[in-house]
Amino acid sequence: MTPRPTRVSDPNRKRTTAQLAVLTDRLEATERRQQQLQNTLAGLAREVGVSIGCLCGHCDESHTLIKDDTMYCPRCGYRRSI
Ligand SMILES: [Zn+2]
Repeated sequence: MTPRPTRVSDPNRKRTTAQLAVLTDRLEATERRQQQLQNTLAGLAREVGVSIGCLCGHCDESHTLIKDDTMYCPRCGYRRSI
């Protein structure tokens, strides 16, 4: 028995295309949500008078916050004066 050639209507390919569409939708929704949260975070920082600094080099899980010449990480607590 010889193997059949791959056809365009291959159900595996169809499923892969459908999965790709689902992942693309999820990625776009995640990017939109991330942008919304960034906007909210920037507004919140302005409200309370802090600046958002660089990514924390200690835990890499949060951006640092800067207030009164002190930079600190709200996630791991690392802090230093600047
Ligand atoms: Zn940290």
